[in-house]
Amino acid sequence: MKQAGVVGSGVGGLAFAIRMACLGHQVQVFEANSFPGGKLSEFQIKGFRFDAGPSLFTLPHLVDELFTLANKDPRDYFNYSRLPEVCRYFWEDHTRLCTLENPADTAHEIAKNLGENEKNVHDFILGLQEKYQIISELFLENSLHQASTWLSKKAWKGYWNIPRLGMFSTMHQLHKNRFKNPKTVQLFDRYATYNGSDPYQTPATLSIIPHLEYNIGAFFPQGGMISITQSLYQLAQDLGVQFHFNEKVNRILCENNQAVGLETAKGKYPFDILASNMDIRPSYQQLLPDQIQPQRLLQQEKSSSGIIFYWGMNKQWDELGVHNIFFSEQYQEEFKALFADKTLLDDPTVYLHISSKIAPVDAPPGGENWFILINAPANQGQNWDELVQLTRERVIQKISRALGEDISLCLVAEDYLDPRRIEERTSSSGGALYGNASNNRFAAFLRHPNYRSAIKNLYWIGGSVHPGGGIPLCLSSAKIASKLFQENA
Ligand code: FAD
Repeated sequence: MKQAGVVGSGVGGLAFAIRMACLGHQVQVFEANSFPGGKLSEFQIKGFRFDAGPSLFTLPHLVDELFTLANKDPRDYFNYSRLPEVCRYFWEDHTRLCTLENPADTAHEIAKNLGENEKNVHDFILGLQEKYQIISELFLENSLHQASTWLSKKAWKGYWNIPRLGMFSTMHQLHKNRFKNPKTVQLFDRYATYNGSDPYQTPATLSIIPHLEYNIGAFFPQGGMISITQSLYQLAQDLGVQFHFNEKVNRILCENNQAVGLETAKGKYPFDILASNMDIRPSYQQLLPDQIQPQRLLQQEKSSSGIIFYWGMNKQWDELGVHNIFFSEQYQEEFKALFADKTLLDDPTVYLHISSKIAPVDAPPGGENWFILINAPANQGQNWDELVQLTRERVIQKISRALGEDISLCLVAEDYLDPRRIEERTSSSGGALYGNASNNRFAAFLRHPNYRSAIKNLYWIGGSVHPGGGIPLCLSSAKIASKLFQENA
């Protein structure tokens, strides 16, 4: 039995701790905050409950798998249901669209509301399945930093299909060539933001992202997104994992290029295996200052961050669903503002999530809990106080225009997050939501590995390393890291 120390209890850190405990090792998790979950946490204001970060749950089997691995029934810990309605879309000219759980129904809605050829849309959605299969087997489930991955049968299948995977064109070009209505193009382009990237730069390979929602499903956990954290935390405890909250790790201790322990304000802890769930940039700069820094990776462009408003509303709107998007009329300019000018546009795209639509206990009777996310550039010292204030006014005006009434009159409780606060609370470099951006052909595929032989016994997990950000990929990072650990053992 080995002693394993994990820095951080984000979803990736929890998953890695569970996997190590399932392999029979003694695990201790050190967390700077007083609670587990990192970005996947919750809070309450005046009777309204808010999930602080993620609101969309996809690939739930990756959570279930952790319980099964521990010989537990996932349903004893955690439950969820598939949303019959995926997302409601609003455009300024009052075009409306609702995407649904069945791809055929979604294609029908897109044909009816946006004038597309129904079969073309349906074929496009179904076609994502095969591309996803090729990419996920190669990229999402394996280390890209081992020769065995590149020489495998699956990899050869991938090479054979390279022309079809869209590595040499952008997501936007793919959609523009496929659909006639710019609104349909915008609808599918939006999925680049699911990993904090720009559809006008990100390779068309990432057009597989909507496959998760349309062909596998958008899910809602009973008790809200926080129940993912709570159930994994409970499972980890049941497996004997020990947690040290309010205990920030200051150093990962190394001897002869080998991680041997960690240090906090309370002292030094020796370990046989270590894992960092902290963003890679502060991990290297703060925890490993004496090690050679992978400068190129650390300097890569960050994914987008966000300004998030948590608004308690004293009214309910039938026009709104669990997930809603109010599109900008200047979509390309919006991404230029985010990634080139590092600011926000006057007319930003607004994402509104209302968990009380499906979990009424999340708001007082007659009210709704509005979680509003506007993509923002990663923090580079912008005047966030001013940007938050301006964005708040623009969001109120935009949603008021769509709903035909002044929504500010219904706002009874509020809080917000901006890139500075995200960085303070989770150590994410620049407050980036998904680590590095995937704004070029290689970025998505060349993230920091889950293990480097340059620092033996140290594993890397979470949204800033391979395979990327978002709950499913963070869970995959823990799976790949534990596989690498077993191969190294
Ligand atoms: P993190 O959540 O980044 O947590 C890292 C943990 O490490 C933190 O708890 C931190 O306190 C701790 N830590 C850091 N440094 C130290 C140290 N030195 N010592 C001890 N502890 C330390 N994903 C989706 O799948 N769907 C969504 O809808 C979605 N929406 C999002 C919306 C927002 C507003 C945000 C912020 C993120 C969203 N994401 C979404 C992304 C998703 O939340 C993240 O990719 C994922 O939760 C990151 O998990 P992680 O394992 O990288 O750890």
